[in-house]
Amino acid sequence: MSFHSQNPYNSEVLKTLPAHSDADVISLIEQSHKAWLSWKDVSFEEKSKLMFAAADLLDQQKKELSLLITREMGKVISESWAEVAKCASVCRYYAQNAEKFLQNEMLSTEQGTAFVQHEALGPVLAVMPWNFPFWQVFRFAAPGLMAGNTGLLKHASNVPQCALAIENIFKEAGFPKGVFTTLMIRASQVQKVIQHPYVMAATLTGSEGAGASVASEAGKHLKKTVLELGGSDPFIVMADVDIDKVAAFAVKSRMINGGQSCIAAKRFIVDAEIYQDFKKAFIQHLDKLVIGDPESEESGYACMATADLAFELYEQVVKSVDAGANIAYGLLKKPEGSFFGPMVLEDIPVHSPAYKEEFFGPVACFFKARDEEDMVRIANDSDFGLGGSVWTSNTEKGIEIAKKVSSGAVYVNRMMASDPAIPFGGIKKSGYGRELARHGIMEFVNQKSIWTAG
Ligand code: NAP
Repeated sequence: MSFHSQNPYNSEVLKTLPAHSDADVISLIEQSHKAWLSWKDVSFEEKSKLMFAAADLLDQQKKELSLLITREMGKVISESWAEVAKCASVCRYYAQNAEKFLQNEMLSTEQGTAFVQHEALGPVLAVMPWNFPFWQVFRFAAPGLMAGNTGLLKHASNVPQCALAIENIFKEAGFPKGVFTTLMIRASQVQKVIQHPYVMAATLTGSEGAGASVASEAGKHLKKTVLELGGSDPFIVMADVDIDKVAAFAVKSRMINGGQSCIAAKRFIVDAEIYQDFKKAFIQHLDKLVIGDPESEESGYACMATADLAFELYEQVVKSVDAGANIAYGLLKKPEGSFFGPMVLEDIPVHSPAYKEEFFGPVACFFKARDEEDMVRIANDSDFGLGGSVWTSNTEKGIEIAKKVSSGAVYVNRMMASDPAIPFGGIKKSGYGRELARHGIMEFVNQKSIWTAG
């Protein structure tokens, strides 16, 4: 069965690519294992040289790669440029820091000498989503390869050209054959990869269902997993903010990547005192968003990544409105193709999808909070716990509230965003484990204790 690369903005089929057979997959896993046997002992100096070369290639090919991202999954071109640049930065970050992060850790004992050595595990499977088709992969691959593991990528079915382009970057940079491999496979083939004895661990970024499926298969075979799943991040606005300025951030934070980001702000929890004014300012900023061709530098939003995703979001909104939510902005229209227009919902009933589910697209859900306690209560009344932000002119107060929000990260007066130096990951149904920073590279290494007598 082949893969179709299709532009969601105009439905043009860009390319059809062949899939790997089960036999191909076995031989690619064997190749990955064979590559690991020598890659694990390659010096940091050599690995860094190759990782810097990958970063340089990303910079050099930024235009073509950005266009590919935009054409395959519909994000606006300015965001694709930023994504490719960020991939180069994560390669450089681990090229510079991996050796320091993985150096032996001396332990104090009463007898002899003891230390922890960090050893590569072997081939690690990465099951990745389409929403940041480069960034999600590089943030797994840069630390993983620098740690001495080899990478096996199963990318989302709608970004097959991105999947192959990433493999090509590593190849062109000079990484030995088998160190990074793209498996052109369907979700139904993932279990067999996890079962293979040479595959040592798996990481998945995606939905809860996919995460549970990968984790349970890995669990059956006693293999470690890291899961980066969905989020419904709160954006908490206190009464003392500069309303217009924060509303501009709020729109950016909701609309980034066409609203299809795990850490996009999804629930806007606003102090009742400024609720009406803040909502008005939010709508004014949302209204200024340029909607159009994703390849135009002017566009701020074009479409969602597939027609199915647009329809799913439409159904979530219909059910929420049927349950009593009000539309404060936007028109509820059955999507034509992959386009779903921005919307604001308010007066959201507790049992509606808008309250409980992740809205993975351009719909903002507004909540009015009585006081700080009510803000924290609403923020934590969610099955997810990925990110969140607090906005206030009192930073100390912001930190106090951030500490009370149950999630993997809360930023104060700044938009949630991933960064190579900041650990990233969730709690509750947003997953477990961490990516990025020192924490990310530690997830897939054997922390081996060595203790000598006397
Ligand atoms: P998805 O449907 O779960 O797909 C993600 C990946 O998992 C794809 O490669 C997909 O392959 C594969 N997959 C799906 N079902 C599977 C199964 N049963 N077994 C093994 N693999 C399976 O998610 P998505 O719609 O692409 O991505 C959106 C979700 O990802 C959102 O919930 C978003 O919040 C989350 N996300 C989280 C983070 C984070 O860092 N926490 C970052 C980005 C996105 P196919 O494409 O072949 O189905």
